[in-house]
Amino acid sequence: MTSISGAGRFAPSPTSALHLGNLRTALLSWLFARSTGRAHHLRIEDLDTARVAAAVGVAAQQQADLAALGLDFDGAVVWQSQRLDAYRDAVTSLDTYPCYCTRREIAEASSAPHSALRPYPGTCLRLTAARRAELAASRPAALRVRAEGASSTIIDVLHGEVTGVVDDFVLLRNDGTPAYNLAVVVDDLFSGVDQVVRGDDLLESAPRQAWLAAALGGTAPVYAHVPLAVNAAGQRLAKRDGAVTLADLRGRGVTAAQVLTRVAASLDLAAPDEPVTPTDLLPRFDPTRLPRGPWVVA
Ligand code: GLU
Repeated sequence: MTSISGAGRFAPSPTSALHLGNLRTALLSWLFARSTGRAHHLRIEDLDTARVAAAVGVAAQQQADLAALGLDFDGAVVWQSQRLDAYRDAVTSLDTYPCYCTRREIAEASSAPHSALRPYPGTCLRLTAARRAELAASRPAALRVRAEGASSTIIDVLHGEVTGVVDDFVLLRNDGTPAYNLAVVVDDLFSGVDQVVRGDDLLESAPRQAWLAAALGGTAPVYAHVPLAVNAAGQRLAKRDGAVTLADLRGRGVTAAQVLTRVAASLDLAAPDEPVTPTDLLPRFDPTRLPRGPWVVA
């Protein structure tokens, strides 16, 4: 038996049931981890939904759906809502500053059209003490990390080396909630995660996260940002696209085993009607031969 070294993880947000695209990413994170002798952890990213009672039920359903596909996890499930102290502690070791900007002010100070592409222009870094005191009295502050225009390069199994500029991104939002980029990095370091497999919509966040891992004294993981599932119109798959969750499909007489076959077939790992288990797929799994485009679920 190979000894376990390192870990991968699947980290769903409990906002709604997992759809075929999420299940495919979960299968891939399991295959990447298990095929490389790693542990595989489950983390529930419930910082935004922690106060929403329904999220607990959604997370339980997500776990049941993953189990129904035969995807297993090691160790205790990590719930981000129970780790607030860890995030706040991590922040104390970083070079940070308060930011009073509204979204609108940031948009007005920047020429980039989309907020995701908009590096923070550093407005609150340059405040006079008087102006800072004035703002502090009237607005809640977010906390930003001072990155000083660093650049960061990640290694992605599917995308190669990807370099991005690290702006002064938010660590704590102005209501005190830890930001996604902070929580993910703190948790991955805490859990010994050295392999991150997730949807390629998050590729752009990876250089920042890798930089933050190093700033916290850790080592960045190796990444695999995998293609998303889209509907017939080419838009990111969503629940409104119809029969896309295990529950929807079960209602139409489709079993979890058949869903696993469908997802595996979409990765060229199974024939369309071939019964398989995740373990059957391990010897067939070769990251270099994965389909590179989005999976069209029609
Ligand atoms: N919670 C994120 C999502 O559901 C994934 C975060 C990550 O894998 O880093 O899209």
